[in-house]
Amino acid sequence: MGASEGTPRRLGGGRSRCPHCGLPRDRVATLGHEWVMLEPDLRPLAHEVPAGHRWIELSDGRVTVYGVCPPDPFQRCRIEHRLACPERSLPDLWPWLTDRRSENARRGEDVRRTERWHAPEPEPPPEEWPDAG
Ligand SMILES: [Zn+2]
Repeated sequence: MGASEGTPRRLGGGRSRCPHCGLPRDRVATLGHEWVMLEPDLRPLAHEVPAGHRWIELSDGRVTVYGVCPPDPFQRCRIEHRLACPERSLPDLWPWLTDRRSENARRGEDVRRTERWHAPEPEPPPEEWPDAG
């Protein structure tokens, strides 16, 4: 499944500026005949990128979402600029983690409600260190 090396043709792609942050993005054709804006000069290991956000380059210069699971430990990929854009909020990268967070928010509510019944006095704030000078 190694990505074959070749001279990547850009197929009408190129660089454009992000309308949100003004930084350059690579405009690359996808296998689905669409365009995706990729972060330039960044090729993280695929297994460090959430599934569904791993774009790999094909020999003709187009990109597609990497579908191998679990990923080859040495496979590098590209990510969309929107994930790295400082002016945009992150999409839901880890849905299972988002589920866990909302579950924990509920559990935290329950714990705090229960503890109010027989809560010990709250810890006093830590004293400031006496002035040593
Ligand atoms: Zn941006």
